[in-house]
Amino acid sequence: MAAILDRVAQKLSQQERLTRDDALELFASRDVIRLGRLADQVKRARWSNQAHFVINRQINPSNICVLSCRFCDFATKRGRPNAYEMTIHEVLQRCSPELREVHIVGGLHPDWTWDYYLEMFRAIHSQFPQIQIKAWTAVEIDFFSKKFRLSIEEVLRQFQAVGLAALPGGGAEVFSERVRKALFPFKIGAPRWLEIHKIAHRMGIPTNATLLYGHMETYEERVDHMLKLRILQDETHGFMSFIPLAYQPGKTKVVTRQASAIEDLKTIAIARLLLDNFPHIKAYWVTMGEEIASVALHCGADDIDGTIGEERIMHAADAASPVSLTRDRLVELIREAGCTPVERDALYRTVHVYNDHVPCESPVSQ
Ligand code: SF4
Repeated sequence: MAAILDRVAQKLSQQERLTRDDALELFASRDVIRLGRLADQVKRARWSNQAHFVINRQINPSNICVLSCRFCDFATKRGRPNAYEMTIHEVLQRCSPELREVHIVGGLHPDWTWDYYLEMFRAIHSQFPQIQIKAWTAVEIDFFSKKFRLSIEEVLRQFQAVGLAALPGGGAEVFSERVRKALFPFKIGAPRWLEIHKIAHRMGIPTNATLLYGHMETYEERVDHMLKLRILQDETHGFMSFIPLAYQPGKTKVVTRQASAIEDLKTIAIARLLLDNFPHIKAYWVTMGEEIASVALHCGADDIDGTIGEERIMHAADAASPVSLTRDRLVELIREAGCTPVERDALYRTVHVYNDHVPCESPVSQ
C-alpha cells in the first residue's frame, strides 16, 4: 500500500499527472495521514496557507418539483404540508448589503413563468448590485430550456443579461448511468450536464462541479466522475471549484448512514491530487460538518464555502450541521486549522485577508 503513496510522491515531484489506476489505488490505501499530506503539499503549492470562504446566502425559492428522485428529501408536490413557494419579495428579504453571493437553486417548478425567473434576478440585481448571483444547476438550465423552448445558450444569455455571474456545480450527482437509472432516472445524465457547463464556459460564465458520494456509487464511479471533469476542464478552463458532497441519508433509506470521516478526507485528498487543473477544492461544511471540514483544510481543501444563511436541501435530509455560520465562526474555524482566512467573492476574487490575531468586525458577526 505504501508503494502507491511513494509512486504518487514521485509523480508530484516530476509534475506528472495521476492516472485512473493511481486514484483507485489511493482509495484502497489505508494511510490517510500520508495521503492527506501529499494533497496538502499540492494545495500549499497553489494557495500557501490560505483558506477561502464567502459571505453568502442560499436561497431555495421553492421545493415543489416535477420530479421525484429517489435519493431526494428536499422536493415535494404542491398541496403537501411541507410545500413552499417564495414570492420575489420573500427572495429579496433574504438578501442584505453585506452579502457577496447568493446561491439560488430549487425544485423544478411546474408553473412558474420565464418572466418570474428573470424578474427575480432583475430585482436582486437592482436592489443589491454588490451581490453576485450564482444560480441554477445544469438540471434547472436544461428544464428551463425545454419548458420555455429556448436553447441553452439563450437561457444563459437572458440570465446573464439580468445579472447571472456563475453556475453552481449541483445536479452532477455521480456520472454513472447505473446510479442514474437507480436513483434519478428522469434527470439529465453526464453528457447533458457536461454539455451545459461547456456552453456556459464558452459564454464566459464560470461554474463549479460537485460529486455526490457515499450512497451506492463505487470508487471506480467516483474516479471516472472526476476524470470526466478533468477532461472538460483541460478544454475550457471554466471550472472554479470541485465540491465533493457527502450524501445525507435522511428518510430516503438509500443507505443507513453517512460516509465516514475517513471517506470524506480521502475523497477531498484524491480530488486535489487528480484534479490538477481545478483551482479550488471545497470542503463543504454543511455536509461534512465543521470539524471534518477544518481537518480537510490539511488534506487538500482550500475553501469551506460560506455563511449560507439558511440551508434547506441538506437539512431536509436531516444534516446534523447548523443551517448557517457567522463570519466570525468561519474565520475562527480556519484559524483553528492553522490557516489564514481569505474572504472571497463568488468568482474567487479576494475581498479581504484576515491576518493572524486581528479580530474581525462585521455586520454578520452575531
Ligand atoms: S433532486 Fe432535484 S430534480 Fe430531483 S426531485 Fe430533488 S429537487 Fe427535484
